[in-house]
Amino acid sequence: MRPATNGNESETRRQLRRIYTTLLAAFGPQGWWPARIRLEVILGAILTQNTAWKNAALAVRRLRQAGMLNHEKLSSASLSKLESLIRPAGFFRQKARTIRNFLRYLETSHGGSLRAMFSTPGEKVRRELLALKGLGPETADAILLYAGGKTFFVADAYSRRVLARHDLWKPTATYSEAQQVLHEHLPGSAALFNEFHALLVEAGKRYCKREVPRCEACPLEPFLNHRHVARPDHKGFAFAKPPAVSGVSGRVGPTLKRMELSHHLG
Ligand code: SF4
Repeated sequence: MRPATNGNESETRRQLRRIYTTLLAAFGPQGWWPARIRLEVILGAILTQNTAWKNAALAVRRLRQAGMLNHEKLSSASLSKLESLIRPAGFFRQKARTIRNFLRYLETSHGGSLRAMFSTPGEKVRRELLALKGLGPETADAILLYAGGKTFFVADAYSRRVLARHDLWKPTATYSEAQQVLHEHLPGSAALFNEFHALLVEAGKRYCKREVPRCEACPLEPFLNHRHVARPDHKGFAFAKPPAVSGVSGRVGPTLKRMELSHHLG
């Protein structure tokens, strides 16, 4: 997929670099993933599906307190015990089965060793993970990137929304289309993918809300190509261009708003 900007590769790279450095300067390093061991990262990636991170973190904490952050103990626990421990994460029956599926896969394909799993080429592990019931691309990539240090960008809803609004791709871009653009235009560095994804999530949470983005307060406002007026579309990502302002072309930013205000104030 070509970027929606102008198809110019170096411009896309420059734009991504500007966005990354601006967010890093504004928010600082995010220190993701907040986990002590790799199994904890994997469980967190599964548990945070369709729920806020704080709920997943609570479920992980309950597993830790029960001494279950261990492959053998987790595998031998009854399904009902697992369900009860992860209940705060929501969809706990489904998620308990997904954890079980993952543990069974780890045992049968990699002898129960995460080291063996992550020594296998990333593309192969990704295919295997995607074949497991309950694991989609976002969770598989979070496992590969954050637990395995593999270069798969987690092109989740936050990343897609922020970068679509900055014309890196169309608002309707799929997960894999967005990921492809990022893989083509970013240096293949797991540390960079890790930090950039975390920063985009932060921008999405703080400013780039699904329905009404708060561009005026956002550090990325200077990089908008034109002023947008938010309106929800079928994906909740799109903006509509505002009606043309007579005598004004290009981007209409805070400066114009100030000018308009002083004009009205006389
Ligand atoms: S809030 Fe506005 S400026 Fe900030 S990332 Fe979203 S679209 Fe860009």
